[in-house]
Amino acid sequence: MRVAAGLLVAVSLCAPSFAWSQAAAQKAAPAAAPIPAAAPAAAPQPKQPARAACNNPNALGVGRTVEIDTTGGPGFGFEHFKELDFLKDHEVVLTFDDGPWVENTPSILKTLAEECTTGIFFEIGKHATYYPEIAKQVYAAGHTIGTHTWSHATLVNKKLSEDQRKEEIEKGFSAVKWALGGVSPAPFFRFPALQHPPEMVTYLGTRNIAIFSCDLDSFDFKARNAKQVEDVIFKKLAKQGKGIILMHDFHKHTAEALPDILKRLKAEGFKVVAMRAKAPVQTLPQYDEEVLKDSKLPTLSQRPVSSVVTDVTQ
Ligand SMILES: [Zn+2]
Repeated sequence: MRVAAGLLVAVSLCAPSFAWSQAAAQKAAPAAAPIPAAAPAAAPQPKQPARAACNNPNALGVGRTVEIDTTGGPGFGFEHFKELDFLKDHEVVLTFDDGPWVENTPSILKTLAEECTTGIFFEIGKHATYYPEIAKQVYAAGHTIGTHTWSHATLVNKKLSEDQRKEEIEKGFSAVKWALGGVSPAPFFRFPALQHPPEMVTYLGTRNIAIFSCDLDSFDFKARNAKQVEDVIFKKLAKQGKGIILMHDFHKHTAEALPDILKRLKAEGFKVVAMRAKAPVQTLPQYDEEVLKDSKLPTLSQRPVSSVVTDVTQ
């Protein structure tokens, strides 16, 4: 076990208390503005609400909460990053990608609340702009929110310039911040398809953003029903004994499977670990502005004046 000293701090022991857009951004990237060498001082932001008090004595709950210092962009998840082995036997971290999404995300929030437990939601920027109220519900319920690019572009795609890759990352954070009413999410990021272009891994390090792969992929996007989602997770848990579990709040079968998954985690003696960031992400103003422009005029036509306005009389 090689855990960088000071990176992970256990901050509390909690009794049980509680058609992504596949297309890459086709727009040309904005002229690259220089990234400030030193991050500006953290803007004050309201304290996130705590999880609601737990009324279920048999709930799965939260075993412990760890705080992550994301300085230098640590990587988590043994599928790609082997350095930070912080989970003990029978500890799991629940993670949900590709939301926020109608019906499935609220269903997952309800299930987590019933079991008084929590997870990390890696939201797609565009989806957050479609459903800001659902993003706000995730935050208000006390869960950790990270991001998963602006449009779920696969960043190893050679057709994307370096500026476009950075835009995918940065605009994702700015969009989620916009959806949360100006509250910055955690500096937690997951690459789409778990494909990690080395230069973007380095870039995230310079931005002090932690990278999340996973220990255990549920492959819920391939499941034909809820039972399959559960079966894959517990088959892998039986082998590995612990891990960061990748699921999708975007998928119906995952939402359907989650009540049984959480009950079975409890029955088999697993404990959920909550991961919190020591400080929120510092978004870059140029991308905040871009999201703001999009949000003000979400249906703004890109047609040229000549095709919209035609002189019919002189
Ligand atoms: Zn995804």
